[in-house]
Amino acid sequence: YCKVNGRNSRLFYTPKMNKMYNDILLMEGEIRKALYHNDFELYYQPQINVHTGEVIGLEALIRWYHKEKGYIPPSEFIPLAEECGLITQIGEWVIRKACNQHVIWIEKGFKPIRIAVNVSAIELQRFDFANKVAVIMEETNMDPAYLELEITENSVMRNTEDCIKTMNALRDMGVSLSIDDFGTGYSSFGYLRKFPINFLKIDQSFVKNVLAESSNAEIIKAMIQLAHTFGLKVVAEGVEEQEVLDLLQKQQCDYYQGYFFSKPIPPDKLEQLLFGSQPVI
Ligand code: C2E
Ligand code: MG
Ligand code: MG
Ligand code: MG
Repeated sequence: YCKVNGRNSRLFYTPKMNKMYNDILLMEGEIRKALYHNDFELYYQPQINVHTGEVIGLEALIRWYHKEKGYIPPSEFIPLAEECGLITQIGEWVIRKACNQHVIWIEKGFKPIRIAVNVSAIELQRFDFANKVAVIMEETNMDPAYLELEITENSVMRNTEDCIKTMNALRDMGVSLSIDDFGTGYSSFGYLRKFPINFLKIDQSFVKNVLAESSNAEIIKAMIQLAHTFGLKVVAEGVEEQEVLDLLQKQQCDYYQGYFFSKPIPPDKLEQLLFGSQPVI
């Protein structure tokens, strides 16, 4: 197992590297099978208005319960899917599934609610991404006003001009956009002005230990104030305790998400939690 690497340097594959490579190939096969057999699921986590307690939206999160391996978290297979290109198919499946679910809930007579879907950098950078989204909304009969796409800061920084074009096209279609995991990447405040976004999601690493680390409280406060001057709504991620929610309230944060209200749950559980058994309209 040896590969000539550039001039005279040789790069040897150690048994360990070989195993890693094997694992990646095996996983790629498993992802393909899961797509084929429709083994992925979407769970939903509510987003709540900090001040009124009202549920204002949902974030769709992919779930994979593998028959032999058990639960495989997205943090494990999404990066692999990005690596091997399967993320495009997963991403399309996720958007279609979320749109379908939204329409099903409307048909059941529930009050319409915005659904946020995570979009990988690879998907966003495809030239036909906005068009794909338009086609899916058309096919599923989804009202674009209720679809939100979550993008991480870093994914936009790689190919800024093209990404802004795609984001503008999505905005023109009536889709809302948010920056996910804010504070973990470039965190350039300049683009908050430049990007056609509606929401800023503060990463949970700032929120979770905000009580223990007072500097985090200051950082969150600054992020909220700045976002507001740019006309953005702020979502705090990873709220697990009442005390954190109290602090966010004081800091004029708009919305929050976290285990304090609910973990991500499957659609039937969410129906019970949000709508009871009675249709709202
Ligand atoms: P994310 O988009 O930042 O999603 C939030 C993550 O935080 C979710 O983890 C959620 O379950 C978790 N979370 C929510 N509230 C709390 C809390 O109070 N405490 C703690 N400790 N965690 C909380 P999850 O579902 O494991 O997803 C991890 C990441 O995987 C997501 O981060 C997102 O980047 C990615 N991901 C998930 N679903 C998709 C998808 O459909 N497509 C793509 N491209 N990425 C996805
Ligand atoms: Mg997200
Ligand atoms: Mg996040
Ligand atoms: Mg993320």
